[in-house]
Amino acid sequence: MRGKPVSATGMKQRFPDEIQAVWCGAMLAFHYDHLTLALPPGHRFPQSKYQMLRARMEADPGAVRLRVASPASREQLLLAHTPDYVDAVLHGTLSAAAQREIGFPWAEGLPRRSLFSVGATIDAARAALKEGVAASLAGGTHHAYADKGSGFCVFNDVAVAARLMQAEHHRAQSAQSTHAVPAALRVLVIDLDVHQGNGTASIFADDPSVFTLSLHGEKNFPFRKEASDLDIGLPDACGDQVYLEALEDALHQVWLRMADHPPGLVFYLAGADAHEGDRLGRLKLSAEALDRRDRMVLDALAARRIPAALSMAGGYGEDLAVTVDIQQRTLTTAATSWAMWNGGRN
Ligand SMILES: [Zn+2]
Repeated sequence: MRGKPVSATGMKQRFPDEIQAVWCGAMLAFHYDHLTLALPPGHRFPQSKYQMLRARMEADPGAVRLRVASPASREQLLLAHTPDYVDAVLHGTLSAAAQREIGFPWAEGLPRRSLFSVGATIDAARAALKEGVAASLAGGTHHAYADKGSGFCVFNDVAVAARLMQAEHHRAQSAQSTHAVPAALRVLVIDLDVHQGNGTASIFADDPSVFTLSLHGEKNFPFRKEASDLDIGLPDACGDQVYLEALEDALHQVWLRMADHPPGLVFYLAGADAHEGDRLGRLKLSAEALDRRDRMVLDALAARRIPAALSMAGGYGEDLAVTVDIQQRTLTTAATSWAMWNGGRN
């Protein structure tokens, strides 16, 4: 399957050139891997996977349009982060302990890369609200809290983007609506990275306008979990059937609990680190199960006409090419969902 986009039905997807020329529509996916971090030799953060994924998508884009992301601004970061923390990152004054908790030493390129990481998710969210589905080729930095980073996460891209989309929605509604109080944009975070979305849960703990769902390895990092609106902790070595049944049940619960005010936007963290070949995941999901997982989520959202912004989130394969295979399948499935939103031409 490597290098070949695969549709929800397992068939290879390609557009004949003449159709591509007439209809160049495809799902937008944002990247920023031209910015790299100077990490010490042997550092376990697999930075090269971002360039590998982009190269794979460039070689065989299927129905995905690649775009360089735009950077987030300091003001946008303040929607979810404290000024002291934002400025410490931007100005290079993080304490040694704060840098250790993030897992990256502060370096010249760190602020800029961190701004683009959030910006890619903002770009994906805006595109999703227009076109139904869009993606960031990175993102999903869900361990970042309002006032600190953690676990390779500097800023919480989804938290900033969720708050910004709500603010932009509010402004647009206020300008158009004759109602005194426009309805808020409700956001749902579906976090299927294998690690709990502790930072996201903390940021939105007292915010009923954002519903947080996290399915994760119960014994895995972070060892001190935060309370999401719905947490499903899975045992080590959890396999396909248990996982997919837990996801189906969790989504059912989400729709029931959000029935009175359904989401107008979903952030989907499609982590590849629940795969059996992952160094950090501790679960035993097959690539096929991860594909079914993606389809279960995206089909449910498409059926309800809820826009979805995807982040690739974690993935630390023993063989990074396998991680990239999984992410490419996720993007291909998302592009199929995009095509259904936009006329069912895929
Ligand atoms: Zn993870």
